[in-house]
Amino acid sequence: SASSPEDLDQRDVHAYLHVTAAAAREHAADVDRRRAAGEELGPLAGVPLALKDVLTMRGVPTTCGSRMLEGWVPPYDATVTTRLREADVVVLGKTNMDEFAMGSSTENSAYGATRNPWDLGRVPGGSSGGSAAAVAGLMAPLSIGTDTGGSIRQPAALTGIVGAKPTYGTVSRYGLVAFASSLDQAGPFARTVEDAARLQTLIHGHDPRDATSVTDTPADLLATLRDGVEGLRIGVVTELQGEGYEPGVRRVFDEALQRFERLGAEIVEVSLPHAGYGLPAYYLIAPSEASSNLARFDGVRYGLRVDAPTAEEMNAATRAAGFGPEVKRRIMIGTHALSSGYFDAYYLQASKVRTLIAQDFADAFAQADVLVSPTSPTVAFGLGDKSADPLAMYLNDVATVPASLAGIPALSLPAGTAEAPDAPRASLPVGLQIMAPLLRDDLMYRAGWAFE
Ligand code: GLN
Repeated sequence: SASSPEDLDQRDVHAYLHVTAAAAREHAADVDRRRAAGEELGPLAGVPLALKDVLTMRGVPTTCGSRMLEGWVPPYDATVTTRLREADVVVLGKTNMDEFAMGSSTENSAYGATRNPWDLGRVPGGSSGGSAAAVAGLMAPLSIGTDTGGSIRQPAALTGIVGAKPTYGTVSRYGLVAFASSLDQAGPFARTVEDAARLQTLIHGHDPRDATSVTDTPADLLATLRDGVEGLRIGVVTELQGEGYEPGVRRVFDEALQRFERLGAEIVEVSLPHAGYGLPAYYLIAPSEASSNLARFDGVRYGLRVDAPTAEEMNAATRAAGFGPEVKRRIMIGTHALSSGYFDAYYLQASKVRTLIAQDFADAFAQADVLVSPTSPTVAFGLGDKSADPLAMYLNDVATVPASLAGIPALSLPAGTAEAPDAPRASLPVGLQIMAPLLRDDLMYRAGWAFE
């Protein structure tokens, strides 16, 4: 059954891959000194934060959970890291993740799995499982994750915290090691909706160093945070509930809808007719982009090199040794989907489905201000339960990938607890997902704040 984070041995969780203890202490002392001298400080001066190991920080190793990048020390800061520095946030270290952010359990890390602070026998979700577990296990009040198909929202749900994927293009990808560039987005983990909104406010904004950075200014996330949901239309997505969702998850979700009604919201039923094709479209588009992005790991430019007589053999030997099985699977799927003769049937078809899903959302947002669903069809599952079955693992993402494909903002927040099918007396966190129209991250936070 669930343990309490207070009597946890935090080392057992394995949330961090690298702790920047000396630098963090020095940084905190510097903030204190500047405060004492009456200097003007950043908005989160001295607040500690954990950074997912897919974002670069000058002089600190970045591994992406892969042997391929073991020993690589980036010479530059990601824009997210720069923004955190400007806010005087103290970075505590780099957190564990599924290799190159591919996974839903953090079991695909080359450096060992992260465990769920609620029950060390269960996964924390993924791929940002280390960042989620650091906050849930009281090892940092805030952390940064990245979400390509659900990697912030699903671990937030499984560890009982708040996590948000901002509108695609509003948080710079400069210095974020690319998995699927048209989907990757960094975002906040926190214990409250307000903390998450404050952290997102610090990291978003246009960046000329990211070609997909949007120039539109996102709405002010804090101005309307406390406005409540009275009169707001909350759309329940027919296709993102029901069959395949655990009974405990469905019960907590139904209770969440009743709570919104009591708070004065109007519950409406909406349909995303193509949502069912979201998972297959995502698992073609994301691996296709990954197969191209990961071509840069050739034994020459970064990290690992396995020597061999010719350049080609060196390249093959390095990639064979450096990538784990899930990364290899994605590279093969993506290379196949992009190859001439199959491109039209797979990649192009998936791109068309993506457009249809974005159109479905536009239609749904004509009937509702925000949309809701369970974040994940299950509560946290046992370590090893799904690691031999890729399809079972991919099904974790059924409710999160539609928003990813459409680029819209989506938040997960704790909605209650439920039993697990294999542990009827366990009490494990269930997440509620709130999705909003493009650039309306403010609405998503406003609905979340009222619910919390
Ligand atoms: N679980 C999904 C995948 O494996 C999403 C990962 C992510 O968002 N980084 O691709």
